Amino acid sequence: MRRYARHSPDRDFRHGLDELTRHRPDLAVRRFRAAVSSCPAAKAGELSRDLYWLAVALLRLDRPELAIRSLVSAQKLRPRSIARSAYEMRVNAYGMCRRSNPELDDYYAFYSIKAWAYLEAKKQGRFETNVEKDIVTRLIGDAWRALIGSGTLSGLPASRKLALFKSWPIAFPLFGLERNKHGKIVDADFRRGGKLRGDERCSCGSGLPFMRCCGRISSLRERSCE
Ligand SMILES: [Zn+2]
Repeated sequence: MRRYARHSPDRDFRHGLDELTRHRPDLAVRRFRAAVSSCPAAKAGELSRDLYWLAVALLRLDRPELAIRSLVSAQKLRPRSIARSAYEMRVNAYGMCRRSNPELDDYYAFYSIKAWAYLEAKKQGRFETNVEKDIVTRLIGDAWRALIGSGTLSGLPASRKLALFKSWPIAFPLFGLERNKHGKIVDADFRRGGKLRGDERCSCGSGLPFMRCCGRISSLRERSCE
C-alpha cells in the first residue's frame, strides 16, 4: 500500500503549473512555495525544479529580485539544469538582478552594500521610518555621485569596483539608536567565504565566479523577505 504525505509537494507543483497556464502567477507562487517547503531536502532534483518554477512565477509577477533568490538555490542544487542557465542569463557580475545598463548594475550593488552596512550597525537591523530610509538613501545617492564624479570607477573590473564600493566612505547619521562597540559604523563583509577574489571560482564547487555565487550581493528586497 502506498503512503501519502499530508502535503503532497508533487500535487502542489502540478497545481502551480496549472495556475501558470491560467495566467495566475500569484496563485502559482503560492503553490510552488508550498511545494518547496514540503519537499524533503534529500530530493535535490525535485526541489531544484520547484524552486526554478517558483522563480518563473515570480518573474511573471514582476518580482525579479525574489526570482533571482529562488534561482540561486535552484541552480546550486542542480548546476547543470535549466535553472543554471536561467540564473546566468539574469544575474550581473555582482550576482544581482541584471539591470537595463551597467551603471545601474553598479549603483544597485553600491546601494545594497551601503544600506546593509548601515542596517547591520543597528540593533534593529532595519529601517524604522520612511524618513530614516529616505535620508539613508539620499546619502548613498550623494556618495554614489561623488564616486562617479571621481572617475575612479571607469575601466575597472567588477571585483575591483566592489572593493571600492566597500571602502568608499559615507557618514551616516545614527538616529540616536545604535552604534557598534567602537562607536562607529563598520562596513560589513558581505562576501562570506573570506579571502577569495571576486573573479575566482567559488569554493563551493559550482564553477561560477565567487561574486556570482556564494559571494553574491543580495538586494535589500531579497534580504528583507528572509
Ligand atoms: Zn558558491
